[in-house]
Amino acid sequence: MESVGEALIIGAGVGGLTAANALYRTGWRVTVLERADALRPIGAGISQPPNAQHALDAIDLGDATLGDRVRAAGEPAGAIGARRPDGRWIYRPGGDPVGKRYGYPFYTLLRTDLLNVLAGELPEGTVRFEAEVRTVQPGDAGTRARVETVDGAVYEADLVVAADGGRSTVRSLLFPEHPGPEYGGYAVWWMLSPGIGDHLIASETLGKGAIWGSFGLRDGRVYAYATMVTEPGGSSEDPIAPLRERFGDWHEEVRKVLAAVDPASVFRDDARWMRVPLPALHRGRVAVLGDAAHPMTPDLGQGGSQSIEDAVVLARLVAGGDGRGNGGVVSALAAYTEARLARTSDIVKRSKKMAAFHHPRTALGRYVRDQSLKLTASERLVGLFLRQYDPVFGWKP
Ligand SMILES: Cc1cc2nc3c(=O)[nH]c(=O)nc-3n(C[C@H](O)[C@H](O)[C@H](O)COP(=O)(O)OP(=O)(O)OC[C@H]3O[C@@H](n4cnc5c(N)ncnc54)[C@H](O)[C@@H]3O)c2cc1C
Repeated sequence: MESVGEALIIGAGVGGLTAANALYRTGWRVTVLERADALRPIGAGISQPPNAQHALDAIDLGDATLGDRVRAAGEPAGAIGARRPDGRWIYRPGGDPVGKRYGYPFYTLLRTDLLNVLAGELPEGTVRFEAEVRTVQPGDAGTRARVETVDGAVYEADLVVAADGGRSTVRSLLFPEHPGPEYGGYAVWWMLSPGIGDHLIASETLGKGAIWGSFGLRDGRVYAYATMVTEPGGSSEDPIAPLRERFGDWHEEVRKVLAAVDPASVFRDDARWMRVPLPALHRGRVAVLGDAAHPMTPDLGQGGSQSIEDAVVLARLVAGGDGRGNGGVVSALAAYTEARLARTSDIVKRSKKMAAFHHPRTALGRYVRDQSLKLTASERLVGLFLRQYDPVFGWKP
């Protein structure tokens, strides 16, 4: 296929690697610059909601779609149940209401597997490691963009994709006046444990200012996460100690996973979100994508999914008509902002609202949360409950 131009992607996370695939498959020469020395997943596992899978299905590999490859590495989670800290079910899922409504159930994967699947479909050598980007000149219709790494290497490209995550350097270079993300009110721990010997139903256990989530992985291990309403920026020498203290008297499954957790797998971070949206998702020839553009609290499982949607929409826009080659890239990126800014800003807000629903401050709030989840217990009502998520999970490219 004749190359339509040269694309440089900053960051080999979920968004950057999806963008690399989508652009490569539409004829771009693609290079990914990654700061780390290898693919390093942030967090242990990730769920792929239906909208992310429909987006990945738009990337055609010839014999399969990228969505097929990702699903083959994952475990279908069906619907996600809700429990009380003493183990009683608020909502015990049955059947596959999510799959029925949106075409796919949630799939859970090891993040390492997801990144390896995405990178594995790119030509050898596409990802350059230990290449930390320091400066970006965005270029314009007549001038290519210019990127420099900390070791002084300089790259020029027709299109640059900034996918350098929630603490994006490129975002602050391109939008120096923007206030950036802020603390979302709670901290998150991700972790992995070996199988605990029981069949595990994907679920969240909802307590007072704290949530525990457990998901089975394809290899039998457990991907778990915990959230706690606390001050930002905390750390602890023993990463499991705060979890033992907070969740040590929760139901048996939580205790079993906690006892088996691999301490090396535990990763803590503050949940952060972008209260003020960026004024645009591009500058010159640079598109900003994923957490770099719109970090959100993880309450709808949409951070990675939105980066996948961004990547697929971006590749379509720069591949079509005047998006090809040089001058057209700038107008295609304006169309990218037009297509993505309102949707991603809406999902950032919905996720933050969900964070408040998940972590209510009062007993009344907890009662309302638990009762409304209880309503989803019947097949008829689960449809009504899911309807509110249609704009999120029902999206297709
Ligand atoms: C507890 C929790 C659970 C979550 N669960 C889900 C879920 O189930 N489903 C979902 O869709 N999302 C989920 N998310 C959100 C999701 O993890 C993120 O939104 C997603 O990883 C963002 O992808 P990204 O590619 O934009 O950024 P990242 O994955 O952060 O990747 C950025 C990459 O850029 C590199 N980089 C940074 N700076 C530079 C630089 N200057 N030069 C070169 N490289 C650089 C980094 O090393 C990194 O590899 C969850 C988040 C949390 C906190």
